[in-house]
Amino acid sequence: MHIAYIGLGNMGAPMALNLHKAGHQVTAFDLSPDALRRAARYGLRTAASAADAARGADVVISMLPASAHVEALYLGPAGLLACLPAGTLVIDCSTIAAASSRRLAEAAAQHGIGCIDAPVSGGTGGAAAGTLTFMVGGSAGDLERARPVLQAMGQAIFHAGDAGAGQTAKICNNMLLGILMVGTSEALALGVANGLDPAVLSEIMRRSSGGNWTLEKYNPVPGVMENAPASRHYTGGFGTDLMLKDLGLAQDSAAAARAATPLGGLARNLYAAHSLAGHGALDFSSVIRLLQKPAP
Ligand code: NAD
Repeated sequence: MHIAYIGLGNMGAPMALNLHKAGHQVTAFDLSPDALRRAARYGLRTAASAADAARGADVVISMLPASAHVEALYLGPAGLLACLPAGTLVIDCSTIAAASSRRLAEAAAQHGIGCIDAPVSGGTGGAAAGTLTFMVGGSAGDLERARPVLQAMGQAIFHAGDAGAGQTAKICNNMLLGILMVGTSEALALGVANGLDPAVLSEIMRRSSGGNWTLEKYNPVPGVMENAPASRHYTGGFGTDLMLKDLGLAQDSAAAARAATPLGGLARNLYAAHSLAGHGALDFSSVIRLLQKPAP
C-alpha cells in the first residue's frame, strides 16, 4: 500500500520503518528537519509537507503529540481532509482526547474518508520491535481495512468500540501505567534508602506480588535494565510531559463521567511537579528523582 506517515518522533520513526520493511511504500513527513534527516538515513522517502506526503496515498497515518496537533493537521480549510480523495483511510495513532478523535471521524465521514483512532501501547521498545498493542475506535469495516497495516507495526489489535473508544481505553491504561511507575519508584527508593541493591530488589519484586510492566520492561533506576530510558539518561522514551497530558485527559474524562480516580489525580500532580521542576522533556520514569536522595 502507499502510506503517508506524519510524525517521526520517538514512536513514529520506528513504526514507519517497520511499515517500510514490510514492503509498503512509505512517504514520511515531520515538522522537524532533524527528524526528517534521520528518517531519510533509515531509507524512508520523505516529503516537504504533509500534503505532499499524502499525495497518492491509500492510507494516512499520524503519530503526533496531542489533540491540537492532530486537529491542525486534518481539520479546517488547509487541513489534510480537504485535499484527500474519498476512499482514503486515516489511522491516527496519537494519544489524544476522545472528543477530538470523534470530531476527526465525523469530519472524515463528511469527505467520504474512513477514519479510526488507533492509539498504541508498548513504548519505544515495542515500536522498534513491531510488538505494539493497538486500541481501535471506529467502524469494524475501517478496522479490517487497517488491519494489514497495523499488523506490520504491532502484535495485538483490539476493537474497543466506536470512534473515540480507542482513546478512552488508552487513557485508562496510561492512568494505570502512570500510577504503577510512581508506586514502583517509591518502593525502589525505599529499598535503596535502606541499603538494598536496586537490581536485586527489582528482581525480587518482579517475581513477587508487586511485579508489573515497569519492572519487566522499564525499570526507572539507571543501570538496572540496559535498554530502559533510565540507562540512557532518561532519553528516547515517553516524555514526562506526554504522560502529564495523558493523566490530564484521564482527569477530564473522570470529571465528565463523575468517576472517582484519586490515585490518577495524585499521579498527575506528581508528574506536573516533576515537569515544573524542569524535567518535562525527560522520560516519565525519571519521576523517581522526586522520591530519591540526589546522587552525591
Ligand atoms: P515525540 O515528541 O517524540 O514525537 C512527536 C513528533 O511529531 C515530533 O517529531 C514532532 O516534530 C512531530 N510533529 C508535531 N506536530 C507535527 C505536525 N503538525 N506535522 C508533522 N509532524 C509534527 O512523541 P512520541 O513519543 O513519538 O509520541 C507520539 C504520540 O504517541 C503521543 O501522542 C504520545 O502520547 C503517544 N505515545 C507515546 C509513547 C512513547 O513511549 N513515547 C507510547 C505510546 C503512545
